[in-house]
Amino acid sequence: MDFRLTEEQRLFQQTVREFAEKHIAPRAREIDRKAEGIPEEIIKGMSELGLFGVTIPEEYGGSAVRGEEMVYALLTIHEIARADLSMSLPVYALLCLGWGYVAARFGSDALKRELLPRIARGEWFLGIATTEPSGGSDLANIRTHAQKSGDAYIVNGEKIYISGVVEAAQRGGGHLTLFKTAPERGTRGMTFAYVPLNSPGITTQKLTMMGRMGFSTGMIAYENVTVPMQYVLDAENRGWYVLMEGFNAARVLVCAACAGGSERALEMSAEYTKQRVLFGQPLAKFEGISFEIADDYAKLEMLKNQLLKTAWLIDEFGKQPQAVTRKEINANVAICKLTAPLLGVEIAKHVMMHYGGLGYTIETPVEMLFRGLMSYVVGAEGGANIMRIILAREFIGDVAIPYK
Ligand SMILES: Cc1cc2nc3c(=O)[nH]c(=O)nc-3n(C[C@H](O)[C@H](O)[C@H](O)COP(=O)(O)OP(=O)(O)OC[C@H]3O[C@@H](n4cnc5c(N)ncnc54)[C@H](O)[C@@H]3O)c2cc1C
Repeated sequence: MDFRLTEEQRLFQQTVREFAEKHIAPRAREIDRKAEGIPEEIIKGMSELGLFGVTIPEEYGGSAVRGEEMVYALLTIHEIARADLSMSLPVYALLCLGWGYVAARFGSDALKRELLPRIARGEWFLGIATTEPSGGSDLANIRTHAQKSGDAYIVNGEKIYISGVVEAAQRGGGHLTLFKTAPERGTRGMTFAYVPLNSPGITTQKLTMMGRMGFSTGMIAYENVTVPMQYVLDAENRGWYVLMEGFNAARVLVCAACAGGSERALEMSAEYTKQRVLFGQPLAKFEGISFEIADDYAKLEMLKNQLLKTAWLIDEFGKQPQAVTRKEINANVAICKLTAPLLGVEIAKHVMMHYGGLGYTIETPVEMLFRGLMSYVVGAEGGANIMRIILAREFIGDVAIPYK
């Protein structure tokens, strides 16, 4: 057993940190305030470093280290999130990396040749579209459906709160989309396929959110949209299983963003409370402050270890599926996703209070972090109660599933 990163992973992490501190951090406030998307120079710089390709195999234009894809993706998102506390760029990147990983694992050769090199070069955006107005937590009851017509599906339905609707329209790319293909078979009758956002029959509407202002969220309506069979992941009616595996990868990266952003914020608290003098002493001398920072630091370190372990488990599963059980991965991912967003918000709240009134102004990035992290608390690949249901099922057994 070895808990350290390899020398290559450590060097990679250092390279991403240097890039992010130099090119991303100074522009985070501008990304949030302008709400005009991620500056192109940043996307270009990231793609030159190979960051959009860490989960994509070399033969499809990526830079993946075979069997270490998730660890590299985790390091990437953690470092990007330390620099952009608004969470706009971390979410943009984690969707491309997470769902790019899924497309690389389950896509047809034709889909991979069309999609993956463009994702790896940072040209196109790739996201996921599962949530519907009828309820994002209850995906088994989605209404979007498709009928076969020759070598394609004709898709009808509606999705809501979908990240990247503007970016996919402007840059190219689209969303891995869940729809019913055999409604009478429940989750065994669902298909998951890539749907380009510029497909005829698609209309979108941007929603105004409270955070992540540099990255869009919106609705997608599908009216008789043709989706070629070659865009299907794995096989017809296997969508639910692919989606669940995809969620595991994406959830780890969501948590990496929470850990990276809150780590940077906690460092800011340590720096600020050392130099802020009150009652004749640095604020950090008061145990009401220093013990809170110590508690947050301890919880964050535990989360980071848990994230590395979980990324490693997913990588092991990718190399040799019989080496790791799905149950083990599901439980470890749910522990991450139950913990990370809530801890991130708790840390952001503490940091804001350590800064006092200054923390409530836009002179510090803490309020941006607070707004950004809340998106992970309310949703983003499953809310906290959904994680509790998964954990209760894994630990107690099927009796603990409330809707069975
Ligand atoms: C900024 C943002 C970006 C998003 N991006 C995407 C995206 O790119 N693609 C996508 O598909 N979706 C996306 N979502 C949607 C997100 O995944 C959903 O918001 C989330 O799954 C919850 O669904 P809902 O909003 O419909 O809430 P609901 O399903 O209505 O749930 C409401 C609340 O009830 C809780 N709850 C639900 N069931 C139970 C239960 N059995 N027991 C106890 N509590 C329960 C939930 O945890 C939640 O807190 C995004 C959301 C946000 C806010």
